[in-house]
Amino acid sequence: MARYTGSVCRLCRREGTKLFLKGDRCFTEKCAIERRAYPPGQHGQGRARFSDYGVQLREKQKVKRMYGLLEKQLRKTFEAASRMKGRTGENLLMLLERRLDNVVYRLGYTTSRAEARQLVKHGHFRVNGKKAQTPSILVKPGFTIEVRDRSKEITRIAGALETAEGRAVPQWLEVEKAAMKGTVKAMPQREDITLPIDEQLIVELYSR
Ligand code: SF4
Repeated sequence: MARYTGSVCRLCRREGTKLFLKGDRCFTEKCAIERRAYPPGQHGQGRARFSDYGVQLREKQKVKRMYGLLEKQLRKTFEAASRMKGRTGENLLMLLERRLDNVVYRLGYTTSRAEARQLVKHGHFRVNGKKAQTPSILVKPGFTIEVRDRSKEITRIAGALETAEGRAVPQWLEVEKAAMKGTVKAMPQREDITLPIDEQLIVELYSR
């Protein structure tokens, strides 16, 4: 599967907001947004004017980058969201939140979604007691997500859980840190996503 391998801080600067793609560094003054809060490139400090399409495109790119998806994956998720009952934009965000890689990150097992995806692919987690290596698995209430016994010694995971103390676990999830076991208590709600996202702009873009 293709993936973006360039500078991730550049993506935050392009979107003009912190996307929290680099783990602990995002919470320090070394964060590129703190130091250079303007778009990258030669004309980055010029005045940016966006058309309606441009505004919608930037919002879609922001969400795509935040969750580390490729265009095709986001489009597919959008199509699934549009077939569901309720508001398509909210459905889209809820489907993204329920992805296993996002849940592993939200539970505090890793410091970023990219790291979560990598560790999931390497088979470090068990979902409902079974080894799971597909980052796009959608979790449901009652699902358990735990670190595999052999992987509990991995310092990256233990270290991430320690530093995640300051990062609140959303209320639809619960984690027993000592046992390295998480449970999905409910479906995520729109208010669980605290980053500024206007999902309606994405709906408008994909509905063009
Ligand atoms: Fe984005 Fe984190 Fe880089 Fe800051 S440190 S620009 S939040 S990826």
